[in-house]
Amino acid sequence: LIQLYIPLNFLGVMYREMKQAFIDMEKMFKLLSENREVQDKPNAPAVKITGAAIAFENVDFSYDGRRQILQGVSFEVPAGHTVAVVGASGSGKSTLARLLFRFYDVQQGRITIDGQDLRDVTQASVRAAMGIVPQDTVLFNDTIYYNIAYGRPGSTREEIVAAAEVAHIREFIERQPDGWETTVGERGLKLSGGEKQRVSIARTMLKNPPILIFDEATSALDSKTEKSIQGELRQIARDRSALVIAHRLSTVVDADAILVMHDGRIIERGSFRDLMAQDGRFAEMWRLQQEEDRHRIVEASVL
Ligand code: ATP
Repeated sequence: LIQLYIPLNFLGVMYREMKQAFIDMEKMFKLLSENREVQDKPNAPAVKITGAAIAFENVDFSYDGRRQILQGVSFEVPAGHTVAVVGASGSGKSTLARLLFRFYDVQQGRITIDGQDLRDVTQASVRAAMGIVPQDTVLFNDTIYYNIAYGRPGSTREEIVAAAEVAHIREFIERQPDGWETTVGERGLKLSGGEKQRVSIARTMLKNPPILIFDEATSALDSKTEKSIQGELRQIARDRSALVIAHRLSTVVDADAILVMHDGRIIERGSFRDLMAQDGRFAEMWRLQQEEDRHRIVEASVL
């Protein structure tokens, strides 16, 4: 009986993990009501990663076949580079991330990784090559140890502690009365937005993917946490190809390239210096945000 029990139990654990991973993904991209019917071609091979260069070539996309969300979007993330995307709410930033993760197929143009069209390789291999730090990380009702280890099942304790260290959450964990055994999630210790993002950064460190998608939290973090998370992000983005969906412009200053989206098109692109020199939409957004930040500081000092 025990011989039967072990594989069954293993299957049970696998199922639970897969289901949870799925829930995680769904939450990440607010996909609950979205269509996930992307099929692999018969006998599709796994994607072969050499440098992890990403290219969008003339991509058009619509969710419902009627309203055009992306139009003629072309850009590259050369191997090991960081490209940041900015633009008003609804301009199509997260859609780029969803397409790269192949939650949907494009209607025109193509998306490639190291020259391979995403539609010609397996979804599983594409997703295995990507680490996502979502806006709102889902925590399981389990220990903080489990929640980080989940990034790569089978990691050693040393690897997990090292990942937490890079994500600057180790000290916080070890300060808790139950340390690594502290239960988090709905029924345990509630973590702040910044702490949750750190758990997610630690998970991504463990997974060690060649491609990183970072969807910056829209909810305001205090400026110290924000700076520190931006630093950790720079560290994990080093030597990876990264697509950063930025809600705060301070995040993009160091990116190799910045794309400015407007109504599903890229209307400006370049480095921070280039865009400021162009004195167009980005420069205007930057000035507005600086002003807002100044108001916030004044308000905070009055209170
Ligand atoms: P934000 O900064 O608010 O996250 P965004 O720039 O990331 O915005 P997207 O999430 O890419 O914008 O959305 C682009 C457009 O696509 C929006 O008009 C949105 O309403 C629409 N959209 C997003 N998801 C779906 C969906 N599943 N079905 C239909 N339309 C959608």
